[in-house]
Amino acid sequence: VADSDPPFASVAIIGVGLIGSSVARAIREHMPKVRITAYDSSDTVRARARELELGEIFDTPCEAIAGAEMILFCVPVGAMTEAALAIADCLPKKVIVSDVGSSKVAVAKALREALPDATIVPAHPVAGTENSGPDAGFATLFHGRWCILTPREGYAKANVARVSDFWERLGAKVEIMDALHHDLVLAVTSHIPHLIAYTIVGTASDLEGVTQGEVIKYSAGGFRDFTRIAASDPTMWRDVFLNNREAVLDVLQRFTEDLALLQRAIRWGDGDTLFELFARTRAVRRSIIEQGQDDARPDFGRVHE
Ligand code: NAP
Repeated sequence: VADSDPPFASVAIIGVGLIGSSVARAIREHMPKVRITAYDSSDTVRARARELELGEIFDTPCEAIAGAEMILFCVPVGAMTEAALAIADCLPKKVIVSDVGSSKVAVAKALREALPDATIVPAHPVAGTENSGPDAGFATLFHGRWCILTPREGYAKANVARVSDFWERLGAKVEIMDALHHDLVLAVTSHIPHLIAYTIVGTASDLEGVTQGEVIKYSAGGFRDFTRIAASDPTMWRDVFLNNREAVLDVLQRFTEDLALLQRAIRWGDGDTLFELFARTRAVRRSIIEQGQDDARPDFGRVHE
């Protein structure tokens, strides 16, 4: 695949934070012939993107998208409308518009409303870290990770195939899914785990006065792994919860019921219920490692210098 012509000769990236800069780096590595242009609303980020040589960085979005064959919105979910409206009057003909937003129903609606005549193929690379900004990105971020495309039913297959080819060349595995289904699946696998991490770390920090520094001192007991997730970008995650509200509330309802069952089992000394659940969840961890979606090495394969 790598030797044939890339699916797009020129890609414009709007928003060069963690994901946008990783896409730029990955294109440079895997499709060096592709022209990369970019815009970010932050002066500081644009300056840094130039220093990092992430592509041709422009001071206005219209300059950045001129001549592009694909426009990729890599801005927080809540900024999609504003970012799309900024290019509504200068959209090149035949361009494919895509995005990397973590929720899909709301983002697709925002893009459709802002750019009613555009060809839109929404995407979500299920890959990331708790860091943000252009320095946090890296070229291998998408290697072996899933990228979920959520085109509308009946959408021209050729457009979807080009976007799919694009992500596969960056090292991702592509899956096509209904946007509503995507939002439910990601509520379970990503959004609720983040909400739980934010809650636990918040509660622990509230209790820090009582425990006198011991939460931090003994954090290796499990707390530390939650703090990694709870360090994720506040803007991005605020927007995810506001834009995937229905699915998150549905799954949260179910989670709350399950938590109440555990509470009951603990209260009544029902060890069997606890043991059965813990045995089942350990098997889930094993399947994730078997499918290559995490590392079985101690400490999740973290490198300690
Ligand atoms: P990020 O590192 O904060 O980067 C976003 C960049 O977009 C920032 O530089 C921001 O500038 C800029 N921006 C905001 N509004 C803009 C606008 N209207 N026009 C142009 N640029 C604008 O965030 P990220 O982690 O890359 O996330 C970007 C998108 O990827 C989000 O939609 C997120 O849901 C999705 N995503 C994230 C992950 C993850 O793990 N992080 C994984 C998959 C998908 P300011 O800093 O000045 O606001």
